[in-house]
Amino acid sequence: MSDVTTPILQVQDLKVEFHTESGVVQAVNGVSFDLYPGETLGIVGESGSGKSVTNLTLMGLIPQPPGRVRGGQVLYDGRNILGLTQRQWQEIRGKKIAMIFQDPMTALNPFLTVEEQLIEVTMLHMGLNRKEASQHAIELLKKVGIPGAEKRIRDYPHQFSGGMRQRVMIAMAISCQPDILIADEPTTALDVTIQAQILELMKSMQEEFGTAIIFITHDLGVVASVCDRVMVMYAGRKVEQTTTKQLFRQPRHPYTVGLLNSAPRWDQGDEDLQAIDGQPPDMLNLPAGCAFHPRCRFAEDACLNERPSLVSLSGDSPHEHACRLDITQPEESSKL
Ligand code: SF4
Repeated sequence: MSDVTTPILQVQDLKVEFHTESGVVQAVNGVSFDLYPGETLGIVGESGSGKSVTNLTLMGLIPQPPGRVRGGQVLYDGRNILGLTQRQWQEIRGKKIAMIFQDPMTALNPFLTVEEQLIEVTMLHMGLNRKEASQHAIELLKKVGIPGAEKRIRDYPHQFSGGMRQRVMIAMAISCQPDILIADEPTTALDVTIQAQILELMKSMQEEFGTAIIFITHDLGVVASVCDRVMVMYAGRKVEQTTTKQLFRQPRHPYTVGLLNSAPRWDQGDEDLQAIDGQPPDMLNLPAGCAFHPRCRFAEDACLNERPSLVSLSGDSPHEHACRLDITQPEESSKL
């Protein structure tokens, strides 16, 4: 396994914008974070918060135009991968950094058998011949728990159930033992039992290969069960980041508190859930000052004009947050 004290990925002041007919959307606005080998970093936020755009940028998948990476660096193994050519991306995408999508049909070709799709990746990236690649593909399907792998490998994606398709996609994503796996809401469409199996499978793959995982989700229950650290995003910016334990024990940003209060808990009924007031912001017309102020019950006059900067607290659980007030609520602890 690689040195776990040196980040495998460093995202520094990343800025990504989209040019639309109505104006320019700053989808990601100055986001920085590190990812270490073997850890799972959760990225949480409502739709439009910038979490998926951040991760598509890490895969070199932002369509340019209308998208544009306006600034920042993404260092993979110390090398800035922003601005690579498509040819250079092919060396990294799938081999070093792989992705699992919410809908496997986005990534799987419906017109090719699973075998054809799996062997294409390993022949390209690992230099295997067809026979070796086919054997490797069968081993992968067995590893992700697909019964009758030798036979099923010749099936098309639509012949698998939703949970099994997600396993096929995981097999494809781990086929070259990537350093980084980006999982974008990988279990949202699955029922709870299958969801638990897929999360368990990802965890065991991580333990075997030392893969670092970025887990994009809006589900704080999933965060609690799989993530080591969490970054919370709002309106294209990071508003909080710390260890998972610390986030649940002592959230420091009112938006995080809102997310925690609106998440189902094992010890209370749905009637106790408290939705966050208001709507996610219009990214074309972000509020002045703190972008969360129209929805924040702690907002005061200064919040309407001054954008809070990110404050870092060191200690056993380093904690960053972007709120001008101290709203710590220890009682939010471990109720999830
Ligand atoms: Fe709420 Fe003000 Fe903190 Fe923004 S800076 S989250 S508006 S208290």
